Amino acid sequence: MEKETFKILAKNDCEELEKSILRDYWQFSDISKRKFTYTAKEILIKYDIKSNEKLNKILKKSGELVCEKLLDCGKCYKKFTIPLRSDMDFDRWFKNDKTLTCIDCKNVLIKKEIIELLDDFDKIYKEMVKVEIKEPTQSLSYLESIFLYVLLTNDADKYSLEITQSVWNTFKEVEANGVEYIVKGLIDKGYIYKTNECILGTKAQSRLRTLNWSYSDLIEDSSKDKVRLYLRENFKSQILFNMPKKYKKIEDWVEDLFITIKNYVLDLSDLKQLEKFVLNKRLKEVYALVGMISEKRKIPLKKNNAFEHDLVRMTKKYDLKHIYSLLLYQANMAASKLYDLSISSEGNSNLIKENIYALKIASYLDKLEKDNEKPKYPRLLPENWTYSEVELFVSAHIIGNYEKWENFTTNEILALWSDAVEINMDNY
Ligand SMILES: [Zn+2]
Repeated sequence: MEKETFKILAKNDCEELEKSILRDYWQFSDISKRKFTYTAKEILIKYDIKSNEKLNKILKKSGELVCEKLLDCGKCYKKFTIPLRSDMDFDRWFKNDKTLTCIDCKNVLIKKEIIELLDDFDKIYKEMVKVEIKEPTQSLSYLESIFLYVLLTNDADKYSLEITQSVWNTFKEVEANGVEYIVKGLIDKGYIYKTNECILGTKAQSRLRTLNWSYSDLIEDSSKDKVRLYLRENFKSQILFNMPKKYKKIEDWVEDLFITIKNYVLDLSDLKQLEKFVLNKRLKEVYALVGMISEKRKIPLKKNNAFEHDLVRMTKKYDLKHIYSLLLYQANMAASKLYDLSISSEGNSNLIKENIYALKIASYLDKLEKDNEKPKYPRLLPENWTYSEVELFVSAHIIGNYEKWENFTTNEILALWSDAVEINMDNY
């Protein structure tokens, strides 16, 4: 199969002389370089033609050169008819590495691929590994119930059994930070589970999406519904709630959980859990504030047991706004001390630098304790502070004072909380 052929096509009514002119005009000396045997001038002289215009007229009347070029499919040709040499534009015609795409054959292949791809989905559905889900029957602890309720009602406009990855990540970061065991409890008891990703499905779907985007006109009308269905399907791993069968709708489950939480009778172990939760939560909040301050003020800081000990001391005595005030004030002191160090020859040891802030905090705490005082002014938390949904829920629906916990010490929070619930005294 020739990749390109050239043929001189003379018109029916063409005379012998004109045929001869046509042949000479289109005779190549080197076809690959598109070089002709005769120049136009030589032809003018040979045939005694007066002007180029006259020659062109004769040529157009007599016939044309036809070039057929093999396309990339290797089967079809594209035909170019060329009346005059000046009409030849191979560089433009055969742009990409001198091959031409055969749209017809390409479309046939794409149509075939789409049909095969749609068939694949039937197989994928059959082979998809379904996670075995057992009905969650174990009862939930008090805090587990609250966590589950807050997660379920995360989007108050639209309850869903699916937890999006972003909601899950935020929840783990803000609510479960330091109390991961509560979330683990919900997973272990089967109230929340994760599905496996179907890799074949995501791959087929991504290919289908590309084809649908670029060649939607090649998809048969009768297949369009299928395409839409497969594109909507979720083959990625999902985090889902496992609703006990006794509930028909999520709303019923949410309502029942709310009642359970309100009527929960706490025992000693529940109270211990509450205490652990509140202390952990506050400690994480203080760490978050310290992190923000030391980053903003560029104060090096080494966290160690002694430092954490001081933070816990603080959380027991002061509310979060006073703690923030103390941390900011001591950051100023630490920053100025660091500045003094940087201009003195006293030493630039990192060991000294990264302990300065912690030492400032510790000695100030000692001083406050000795004088039996608390930091003078409370400070508003940073504007970008993320409030815990669990905290807001407990404050609104259990304690009922709608106050943010930053105004209280951990002991005050625990007192408010335990005053608001029923406690089983048998174990005391
Ligand atoms: Zn073709």
